[in-house]
Amino acid sequence: MVELDGSQGEGGGQILRTSLALSVATGQPLAIEKIRAGRAKPGLMRQHLACVNAAAEISGAKVEGAELGSQSLSFAPGPVRAGEYRFSISSAGSCMLVLQTVLPPLLLAGAASRVHLSGGTHNPMAPPFHFLERAFAPLVRRLGADLQLTLRRCGFYPAGGGEVEATIVPAAGALQPFDLMARGEHRSSHAECLAPGLPRHVPTRELDTLGGAMGWSGEQLRFGTARQNEGPGNALLATLAYEHVTEVFTAFGEKSLSAEQVAHGLVKELREFQKSEAAVGPHLADQLALLLALAAWQGKKACAFTCSDVTQHTRTNCAVIERFLPVRFAIVESRQICTVRVSPA
Ligand code: ATP
Repeated sequence: MVELDGSQGEGGGQILRTSLALSVATGQPLAIEKIRAGRAKPGLMRQHLACVNAAAEISGAKVEGAELGSQSLSFAPGPVRAGEYRFSISSAGSCMLVLQTVLPPLLLAGAASRVHLSGGTHNPMAPPFHFLERAFAPLVRRLGADLQLTLRRCGFYPAGGGEVEATIVPAAGALQPFDLMARGEHRSSHAECLAPGLPRHVPTRELDTLGGAMGWSGEQLRFGTARQNEGPGNALLATLAYEHVTEVFTAFGEKSLSAEQVAHGLVKELREFQKSEAAVGPHLADQLALLLALAAWQGKKACAFTCSDVTQHTRTNCAVIERFLPVRFAIVESRQICTVRVSPA
């Protein structure tokens, strides 16, 4: 039994998602107290409950405490079952975070799975669909497994209603560890603006502001393909492709922000990343730590990556991973490039 204090470090929902994923992946029961104690509204919210229920469904788990607002949970999984699943979040909570929860165990299952997800696809504080498709999924493939993602319909806060299909194929043998120390040569950069249900001047101003600040030409600035009835919603995405990795950065529109402010927020993130020579940015670092820990454990070999920043979120994630897997993280931080190494214990 792994006993966790959900208030440690970041004290957020990531502790719950990572521990559910690894409880199912390793078959170790989990008891977690003080769930999301570091947040203004602590305990399980609808989107966290959806993650608990999805993890329980793929593993036939016995669960206690799976209720809205609950701050403690006990979760005893059975063996992970590959298959076809449908997970839906009725609110606009991110269905991409449900995928983040079930993906690690399904990558280790005995057969392929197909997962139909509905809810938010482009939410603040969650990986947007295009980030998972362009930045994250290629790294899953580098482990020898496969992840294919299809966006059927975008879902934004507050209406939700997005739809995504994920096909997850485990590796033929153990997951293959790899190092990602440098991004390599720059190949291309472009931006696209999703703004369904909003007047045309909003995406035009966001793209113009971003293009002006980054020195990008017209063909690098694109109107996204979301249909008008998928809104209202607004996400401005920048995709930077390099020889060894693709990164995707996203800014979200809000009623209180002008189009120019949304674009400037994204420019700031892009400049931070470009200033560093690291392979990945802070969010991909977070998510790569778990993938490489699984590979180091299965492939019995150390692996490492560099990132522009190690956030408290990443540190907390690494500490939770070490509770479930026989691996150790070593993080060397400097101002513009940090190295995260994970080794079998
Ligand atoms: P809560 O307690 O409110 O659920 P949390 O700790 O679960 O909070 P976050 O810290 O916001 O939530 O992170 C959720 C996940 O989404 C993390 O894996 C993070 O890396 C990822 N994420 C957040 N924003 C982005 C983004 N713009 N691009 C890619 N991934 C993102």
